[in-house]
Amino acid sequence: MSNVIYLDNHATTRLDPRVLDAMMPYLTNQYGNPASRQHAYGWRAEAAVEWARGQVAALIGAQPRDIVFTSGATESINLALKGAVAAGDSSKNEIITTRTEHRAALDTCAVLEEQGATIVFVDVNRYGGVDPVAVERAITGQTLMVSIMMANNEIGTLAPIEDIGAICREHHVLLHSDAAQMVGHLPVNVESLQVDLLTCSAHKMHGPKGCGVLYVRNGAAAGILRPLIDGGGHERGLRAGSLNVPAIVGFGRAAQIAAEEMSGVEPHVRALRNALVTGITASLEGVTSNGDPVSRLPHNASLTFRGARADAIMMKMKDVAVSSGSACSTNDPQPSHVLKAIGLGEEEVRSTLRFGLSKFSTDEEITMAIRRVTQAVTAVRRGSIHEEDLSYEHAPH
Ligand SMILES: *Cc1c(COP(=O)(O)O)cnc(C)c1O
Repeated sequence: MSNVIYLDNHATTRLDPRVLDAMMPYLTNQYGNPASRQHAYGWRAEAAVEWARGQVAALIGAQPRDIVFTSGATESINLALKGAVAAGDSSKNEIITTRTEHRAALDTCAVLEEQGATIVFVDVNRYGGVDPVAVERAITGQTLMVSIMMANNEIGTLAPIEDIGAICREHHVLLHSDAAQMVGHLPVNVESLQVDLLTCSAHKMHGPKGCGVLYVRNGAAAGILRPLIDGGGHERGLRAGSLNVPAIVGFGRAAQIAAEEMSGVEPHVRALRNALVTGITASLEGVTSNGDPVSRLPHNASLTFRGARADAIMMKMKDVAVSSGSACSTNDPQPSHVLKAIGLGEEEVRSTLRFGLSKFSTDEEITMAIRRVTQAVTAVRRGSIHEEDLSYEHAPH
């Protein structure tokens, strides 16, 4: 696989080798359960989890006791939204959100709506940007929560969460933000943002899969959440179940590395992304960039190639791993709801590729990717898809 250039870092990221090193003892000798309070195995596991909790808390400016470990961002989002509705009083059952959220949030909202909640969608502009004034206008006496993602996983647009946070505070409305693409990449501080709930995920920042965090302002004591999973009272009663110690330790280490290295990684990745976009648009006509030109993730590019379908482009460059404007979730190739929401037509949606870089991306890889994309798009536009390309889909990878 090392001959494949990995540019799909919004889907998942490579485990940092230092994270694996930190996890290794907890996958081998240190197999204790932190809930075992009566012996050294348990104590050591508990100490490791609490150390990791502090590392994640430090990355986002939170108190350690406000960090709840979950199985990932999807679970954190479910806990934030369903948990708040269940804990809230029934006269406040309105959630304000956008149509460009991750499916984990949209699908959760759809379920809540079936159960009687009201979901209000605030429009986004053509860059996928949210206007805080529109959020404020949408707030009513029934509004329980505003839930708006901090950085979009397809087009990279950042939301003005700090402004929205001030508005929510003023109106006594909860604010949840899905920051899975943001945490570990750009600075996040739950105090300056004034969020009450914040979601992040280890595997989007060079940690292991299957481990997430929900930040809960004032933790369980706030009483703003009802747990989704009942059991042994773990995580101060907010998320029962034995903790995934190795993954949590890995998340902590990934958070620490991000905190230390983010300010150096960010300009590197931004320069590579800019080189990628400049290189592609300099060598091809009819390429447009999606998302906010300025207020966006440094490692994201979303490009629409007029007259070239994304799936055909990808078949012509099997040594570059990117993702298309469809089929992003599981085996259900729906055209991207995000690209539709920012006004792209069906043909444009089908002709869009998402590029996600990381700290492991190199100059050589970007130079090669520019060449491969240019060749592939040119070939597709000439209409030369060969049989062999089409059959590759079924070949072992
Ligand atoms: C990846 C992602 C999720 C889901 O995260 P998991 O940890 O894989 O469940 C949710 N929101 C955003 C913005 C994401 O990028």
